[in-house]
Amino acid sequence: MALDPKRTVAELKELRALTGDANGAQRVAWTDTWLKAREWFAAKVRTLPVEHHYDSAGNNWVTLKGASEKSLLIGGHLDSVPNGGWLDGSLNVLAGLEILRRIAAQYDGKPPVTVKLVDWADEEGARFGRSLLGSSAFAGTASVTADRVRTDRDGVRMEDALRRCGVEMDRFGEATEGHKNASAYIELHIEQGPVLERMNIPLATVLGTKGVERHAITFHGQEAHSGSTPMNARHDALAAAAKLALEIRTIAGKHSDSVCTMGSVKTFPGIVTAVVGRCETALDQRDLDPVVLAQMYREAREASERFAAEEKCTVEWSRIWSIEPIAFHPRLLELCDSAICEVTGASKAHRMPSGPLHDAAEVSRAGIPTVMMFVQSLGGISHNKVEDTKEAHLELCVSAFDRLASKAMNFVAQG
Ligand SMILES: [Zn+2]
Repeated sequence: MALDPKRTVAELKELRALTGDANGAQRVAWTDTWLKAREWFAAKVRTLPVEHHYDSAGNNWVTLKGASEKSLLIGGHLDSVPNGGWLDGSLNVLAGLEILRRIAAQYDGKPPVTVKLVDWADEEGARFGRSLLGSSAFAGTASVTADRVRTDRDGVRMEDALRRCGVEMDRFGEATEGHKNASAYIELHIEQGPVLERMNIPLATVLGTKGVERHAITFHGQEAHSGSTPMNARHDALAAAAKLALEIRTIAGKHSDSVCTMGSVKTFPGIVTAVVGRCETALDQRDLDPVVLAQMYREAREASERFAAEEKCTVEWSRIWSIEPIAFHPRLLELCDSAICEVTGASKAHRMPSGPLHDAAEVSRAGIPTVMMFVQSLGGISHNKVEDTKEAHLELCVSAFDRLASKAMNFVAQG
């Protein structure tokens, strides 16, 4: 059976019809719709000469045993955000399924190395606010004690929701058993941004996932009457915050792939008749280079202190969350480049970092050689029902990813 990328597109549409509605995909992890998607997937898998099991964190594994136990892992996630897109995560899983069919047929059910397709549990963290749950359990980085008491909008505890789906959080640690013989990991994903469409190229090699510095920043000034306080006598916390909001463009602009976002601002007392006495903001900074990330953090901090002083205010920082940049494996980057070049006819593959985090980051943290491939997104829009990619590009990415799988199998065999 030859690779049939058109079948992947047809199956994506089938899944969309089964688990979506007029508002988009509804495969939120640990819900009935998500379980329905997994059942549908299990029925597809049943026709293949594979083993199928769920690990202790709810990750969904399909194993095609090879002559060697050394394994190539191919990953994705069937879960979506509420009102999500039809491609985010499920493209990776269904492309992986098609590739598994091709490999099983080509080697008569016994390839030279073992190939495992994994559908990670709860990549999105949409219900409990904890992204990359299954893959971080696999990596051994899950903070279960902190996570188990999380609740959803309706007050349902995470621990109880998972138990309903057959997952005991006490046993999360056992998911690291999946590392055994794992020699490489590859993941296909839609870009979820506008870069490839602007460059008019369909595919790219992903260098790694950017590190994130996320901080709460509060400016303290002095509440005062809007009518009676002269402009030069004010301690305006919003003015200081606003200067920083503009300055981060300059800070990020010194580096080609850096991004800085001040995505929230709250003012107190928050009325038009008072100068802002306190302004609470948050800053998210991302880059693939840890040195650049540290420099941007330092510069933003210094700038905030300068602007606070200019506005006769003070400023206070506290870290919300951070993660280090994850660089993918150099040899696998080369293999991904050549897979793209072979399929597109380009002489050189485009390489770019990923701003969003992906399960691949957790797998790479576990020490398994990892790479990702991106396919162009239309309008750069994702986590939305309008998320889309040209069908020709979907077919192209399945072919290119299949080439990458073959090359990665050789990498596993030789390594
Ligand atoms: Zn995704």
